[in-house]
Amino acid sequence: MPERALLERDGYKCQYCGHKLTKETFTKDHVLPRSKGGLTTSGNLVCSCYDCNQTKGDRTPEEAGMLLLKPVKSVNMFDPTRKMMEIYNNFIKQGSAR
Ligand SMILES: [Zn+2]
Repeated sequence: MPERALLERDGYKCQYCGHKLTKETFTKDHVLPRSKGGLTTSGNLVCSCYDCNQTKGDRTPEEAGMLLLKPVKSVNMFDPTRKMMEIYNNFIKQGSAR
């Protein structure tokens, strides 16, 4: 997964706190941690600042109480995590007051 594509998809922003990121400052966060079966695919990776990545650690967004700013879009139609991310994205929609 090219880092630049990930940054462009996420608008050069941390997907947890909205902090502006650059190629030098961003980190890649596994939304579903690898220890819980999360894959390193675009559907399971978001741009995150170092602090949010550290805070979230080895937890899911629910466990960490850190919801994503916007639903994760997989760049690849056949990404095996797509189905999983749809479940997360529904959770985010239900959790927001909008
Ligand atoms: Zn952040």
